[in-house]
Amino acid sequence: MKTYAIVCKQDPQSLSLSEKLKAQLNDILIYDEEHPEMVISVGGDGTMLYSVHKYMDQLERVAFIGIHTGTLGFLTDYQRDEYQQLIDDIRKGDYLIYERHLLEVKTKEEKYLALNEVRVENNRRSQVIDVYINDDFFETFRGNGLCVSTASGSTAYNKSLGGAVINSNAGLMQLSEIAGIHHNAYRSLGSPLILDKSHTIHLQSQSYQGAILGVDHLVIDLKDKDSIDIAMANQKARFLQYKRVPFTKRLKRAYLRS
Ligand code: NAD
Repeated sequence: MKTYAIVCKQDPQSLSLSEKLKAQLNDILIYDEEHPEMVISVGGDGTMLYSVHKYMDQLERVAFIGIHTGTLGFLTDYQRDEYQQLIDDIRKGDYLIYERHLLEVKTKEEKYLALNEVRVENNRRSQVIDVYINDDFFETFRGNGLCVSTASGSTAYNKSLGGAVINSNAGLMQLSEIAGIHHNAYRSLGSPLILDKSHTIHLQSQSYQGAILGVDHLVIDLKDKDSIDIAMANQKARFLQYKRVPFTKRLKRAYLRS
């Protein structure tokens, strides 16, 4: 028997759904919060991000699946009224593994992995950042900040910044500006830039005072750090796919159908 764990949003609806799942799954799987092979995320996209981060050090063994209790779930395959179908699908065991690429971000002291994006944001003053790609100076950015998203994260913050939506298992990263300043004195590319794993992005600043480093739902104070390195990570997050929902269908469901 496989081991599993549930990561649940702490609202009454998600908690009750989680209990219903456990009541039936405990006949076919063993609940093991420390070392699960399957993690069921009950909540929304935020809960899925939290689930992936909770088991970030066990990515080789863990596979994720989500059931959402909110209004929109991009990283979750099942609606809350489909929980019986989820149990039946787990029982049948007919699944594919869908791999999502991650980003690795390093400051001098720390290292993080991101499923959606890494962003440097400063709402207190114009943030100046020298951008190097593969150690080659590319541009000086001025504005609120920069966002580097994965293909999975291209439908999240990146989309709000006017970035392109990218098929979610592509091994690509996208650099987008957050309120960039463009005039005769200050100029940066302006348009989102899509790069593959042969590229590294280095963000250098004389001062990150007042800026934060956002890594998915995590917020880290940049304070005295002066350099940030971003690249595609070697690790991937594995998602269980019982349902074959094409990417374009997912997009239509989330953004186009009323
Ligand atoms: P949250 O739970 O409030 O999530 C924010 C929104 O982003 C929700 O509507 C969620 O469904 C959606 N979302 C998250 N990941 C997604 C994805 N891969 N594709 C499509 N939609 C997605 O906030 P949180 O728990 O702190 O989640 C952090 C994420 O929220 C960040 O990774 C960022 O992408 C997103 N975010 C978006 C904006 C924006 O669009 N302006 C601002 C802040 C954060």
